[in-house]
Amino acid sequence: MTDGSLLEFEHVDKYFGDTHVLKDVSLDIANGEVCVVVGPSGSGKSTLLRCANRLEEIQAGEIRLDDRSISDPGADINRLRQRIGMVFQSFNLFPHKTALENVTLAPRKVRGVDDDTARERGVDLLAEVGLSDQAASYPSQLSGGQQQRVAIARALAMDPRVMLFDEVTSALDPELVGEVLGVMRSLADDGMTMMVVTHEMGFAREVADRVVLMDEGRIVETGAPTPFFERPDTDRGAQFLSKLF
Ligand code: ADP
Ligand code: MG
Repeated sequence: MTDGSLLEFEHVDKYFGDTHVLKDVSLDIANGEVCVVVGPSGSGKSTLLRCANRLEEIQAGEIRLDDRSISDPGADINRLRQRIGMVFQSFNLFPHKTALENVTLAPRKVRGVDDDTARERGVDLLAEVGLSDQAASYPSQLSGGQQQRVAIARALAMDPRVMLFDEVTSALDPELVGEVLGVMRSLADDGMTMMVVTHEMGFAREVADRVVLMDEGRIVETGAPTPFFERPDTDRGAQFLSKLF
C-alpha cells in the first residue's frame, strides 16, 4: 500500500462455471477516492463489487483492503464485511424493524455495541441521510428513496473503510433518485472511499474522481470524468458514450 491504495484488485479472474466474467481485472482505489464503474449490462460490474465483499470467490489474482488479502481463503470474512459497506439496488431492510432499529441492529449484534451508544449513533446517521423524522417508521411506511437512505445509514453504522454501491437508484421512481444521489455526494465530500456502479452519468461526471468502463469482463478504459466523457481514448469508450447521449 505504498502508494496509498485502499482497495486493490490485482489480475483478478472470475468464472461462473465455464463463463469467464472477470478477465485480468486490475484496479487500485485510493483512500478517499470515488471510483464510478460504468458499462453495459452483463459486463461484470456487480460481480466485481461482489468479489470485493467476498460474496463471490475469485479463481485467480488477489483483492486487498488496506494491504490485507480479501480473497485469501483464510481471510476473516466477518471482519472484512464490517470494513466494506455495500448497498444494493434492492434495499433489503428488515420489514418488521423501524428505520432506527435497522440501523442499530448490526452494531449491537455483530459488534456488541451497547444499546444507548448504538441508538445515539443511529440517530446521528439517520440525520446524516436526512431522515431524522423517520426513525420510528417501518420500511413499508417509507418511500423507496427513504428506504434506500436507511440502507445507506445501516451500512455506515459499521464504520466501513469503503462503501460499495451497486445501482442503488435503478429501482427508484425518477423523482426519488436525486435524494439518494445527494446523500452519496455528501458522503463523497466527507472523504468516504467509494466504488459506485451507476447509470447516472451526471453523478459520474460531477462526483467521480475516476470513471472505469467495463466491457465483457474487462476494464477497457479508465480516466478522470472530464476526459472520459469528452475525449474517450478507446473505440469502446466512444461507442459506449454514443449510446448514452
Ligand atoms: P453487470 O453487473 O455489469 O450487469 P454481472 O456482474 O451481473 O454484470 O454479470 C456478469 C456476467 O456474469 C454476466 O454474463 C452474467 O450472466 C454472469 N453471472 C452473474 N452472476 C452469475 C451467477 N451467479 N451465475 C452464473 N453467471 C452469472
Ligand atoms: Mg449489475
